[in-house]
Amino acid sequence: MQIEHRCPQCDGPIILDETDRLLICSFCKTKLCIQPKDYLRYCFAPCGPLLEEVLFVPYWRFRGIRFLCKTSRIEDGIVDKTFLAIDSKHFAPTLGIRPQSLKLRFVQTAENTRFIAPKISFDRASVETKNDVVYEIVTVHETRFIRRGTQGDYDEVPETRRELKEDRVYHEAFMADTTSLIYTPVFVRNGRFFDAILNEPLYGGPAVHESLPYEVFSGNWEVDFLPTLCPDCGWDTIAEKDSCVLLCKTCNSAWESRPQGLKRVGFATAISGKAAKSSPRQYLPFWRIQADVEGIKLGCYADLVRLGNLPKVIQPHWEEPPFSFWTPAFRMTPSVFRRLSKQFTIAGFSGEMDDRIPDAPIHPVNLPLEDAVDSLVTIIADLGINKKKVLPALPHIKMKVREALLVLFPFTETDHECVQPDIKCGFMKNALQWGRNI
Ligand SMILES: [Zn+2]
Ligand SMILES: [Zn+2]
Repeated sequence: MQIEHRCPQCDGPIILDETDRLLICSFCKTKLCIQPKDYLRYCFAPCGPLLEEVLFVPYWRFRGIRFLCKTSRIEDGIVDKTFLAIDSKHFAPTLGIRPQSLKLRFVQTAENTRFIAPKISFDRASVETKNDVVYEIVTVHETRFIRRGTQGDYDEVPETRRELKEDRVYHEAFMADTTSLIYTPVFVRNGRFFDAILNEPLYGGPAVHESLPYEVFSGNWEVDFLPTLCPDCGWDTIAEKDSCVLLCKTCNSAWESRPQGLKRVGFATAISGKAAKSSPRQYLPFWRIQADVEGIKLGCYADLVRLGNLPKVIQPHWEEPPFSFWTPAFRMTPSVFRRLSKQFTIAGFSGEMDDRIPDAPIHPVNLPLEDAVDSLVTIIADLGINKKKVLPALPHIKMKVREALLVLFPFTETDHECVQPDIKCGFMKNALQWGRNI
């Protein structure tokens, strides 16, 4: 989904991606944080000038990575949905492929522009999996052995059996998800609604009898553009267009963009002996999260060893809290995200760290802490070895974050892979590029 906009400084044209957190102008080099009041609101432009008054119809749009913990497996994938935000038979229930095929723009103040207010409030339940238990008939192939006589050999008798298998959803989570409103223009002609982009009557809609309630754009929805300078020292921060945390190399600080402005985030740089010696390398950001976990015993590292039945001899100090989860602070392929979270959490890094921003390239932090926290129950499902015991516990898990730290980790790079030699893990580089396009 792409959004057309004009630079607030020089009025130059800019094309933004839906995932962009920063507006970066290629003409005047202005860099600003994009900050919505509540939801980002976009609209399609009507085709040419129309005699009739244009009315904008609201649709909710939801996009994100979904984790589904089921009896049979843990699934991950992308959910991308639009649905009508009012209760009406006049309009199509979804926008179809229109958001992908047409450019949008932010909703802005304009004379006589009428927006229909969303009457159905956004509820995640509408994108969640409806049936949490499904029954499937599966064919089971077996071999039976029948003995011939009292001392004879066994005969192998192949058998197929039909069995009813239950597949239950124990937990569903969304990560890197965005909810926005998209308005599409319509007008009324001869008692019917017309699509103002195609200039055609809307398919099958009944005639317009009642007058629709609408609200006139008040100006309160407009997106704010905030400066990206370091609030502490006033210098430029390091940020790319999808960054949600800005780094200041001048005063060694990290800043998260929030509706109220930039907020300081604790960070550290891991000193890795092996990765430091080899080059080329880049730093990848991770969240280290300490949380109070209820519903499953996971208060110290020894609990993790027991939960995952890890081949380690429990040391007495492992019984001491706290326990830390680790997840990437960047978007990537969901399956690799889960694997890295598992490997980093098991590794339980306790090596040396310092508080300086490294000189080597740093991959942008494009996964906020809240999203990382949303993935933790799935990570627990991945870590637990006894799925029969862990899965039914998932719906009862409650988590309260006590402390979070952004940790920059050095990775060595080959042509296709990023490798962390101390944690002994790696992944294909294209997982990073994939993540930046979610
Ligand atoms: Zn500009
Ligand atoms: Zn600074």
